[in-house]
Amino acid sequence: MIPYGRQTIEDDDIEAVTRVLRGDWLTTGPMVDEFEAAVSSFVGRKYGVAVANGTAALHVAMHAAGIGPGDEVITTPITFAATSNSVLYCGATPVFADVCADTLLIDPDSIEKKITPRTKAIAPVDYAGQPCDFDRLEAIAKKHGLLLIVDACHSLGGHYKAKPAGGFGDMAVFSFHPVKQITTGEGGLIVTDDEALYKKMRSFRNHGITTDHRQRAQQGAWFYEMVELGYNYRITDIQCALGFSQLKKLPRWIERRQEIAARYDAAFSAIDGIDGLSCQAGVSHAYHLYVVRIDREKTGCDRQAAFMRMREAGIGVNVHYVPVHYHPYYRQTLGTGAGDCPVAEAAYEEILSLPIYPGLTDEQVDEVVRALTCAVGVNA
Ligand SMILES: *Cc1c(COP(=O)(O)O)cnc(C)c1O
Repeated sequence: MIPYGRQTIEDDDIEAVTRVLRGDWLTTGPMVDEFEAAVSSFVGRKYGVAVANGTAALHVAMHAAGIGPGDEVITTPITFAATSNSVLYCGATPVFADVCADTLLIDPDSIEKKITPRTKAIAPVDYAGQPCDFDRLEAIAKKHGLLLIVDACHSLGGHYKAKPAGGFGDMAVFSFHPVKQITTGEGGLIVTDDEALYKKMRSFRNHGITTDHRQRAQQGAWFYEMVELGYNYRITDIQCALGFSQLKKLPRWIERRQEIAARYDAAFSAIDGIDGLSCQAGVSHAYHLYVVRIDREKTGCDRQAAFMRMREAGIGVNVHYVPVHYHPYYRQTLGTGAGDCPVAEAAYEEILSLPIYPGLTDEQVDEVVRALTCAVGVNA
């Protein structure tokens, strides 16, 4: 089975991890600082806080932003549920804006319609690896006095108008799950330029305690104070060593992802009824996902049938995502449902994610294209 996404682990990654295993610090050691510094400098930010996973990173960011009961945070339904779950963790209410039909990125016009006196933040998602329309999003946030907390879990290595993904908003969040651009096994990281947010986030990932184990060891001190209720969201040095080693290869891997996407684009441009998503002008797309829409009218084949046939052909296609406002938990607790976001809902019926990762060969890309044209019954 060709999977839709897969990590790349090279010998130097393995060596980086074994070096840590032979050393003194397995967690909360120097590799955490190094990884934080490397990622934040890569995306042009002052501070980075590495945590256990991307979901924890979103929670940490929402907490640091002061999101709490009575607040609303506007986000997109075309995302992994973790984005809006992090709002729920803080006792606040996620509000779903619709997406743009061509990119499936959050629609700035829809955001403006959903703003109320309770709105405190906007949490856009760089869906599939394409940075959002940050000129518009920053202008809306500024005009209405809202925080901008960007879920950049798909877009590490991408750019918007020459500025790196993750470089926008009060905070931006990354995930290092194995299907993402670089991996730490499990891991996440928040970047910011705001020192106060940075300090809050560091404390929240460590139970709400203001110093960590290594700081106390270095100072020869034992006393510590817990100043708020935090969590154990720490990441290990073992994981950060892997992430640090992976980051060095990121530009090469993004290039390969873009080559694969261009090969798919070229193939599908000749086929009526299988359409890739659009890429905005001035954007360098990081292609965490390569998503096509299967037009049922034109092909006579619906997405579900295409999905089944592709899986039978040994191709691990997927669907990203079930719109979050469709999930039973959201329907039951927030009263969301069909009709809330018509553009997202229509797209959901048609989308299919095709394999894309640096280790995928041109021959495999061609095999995926052949299998898909055969599955939907069109001629390439
Ligand atoms: C991967 C991902 C996350 C966080 O995932 P973790 O598995 O917790 O690291 C959050 N949002 C989006 C959009 C993601 O794709």
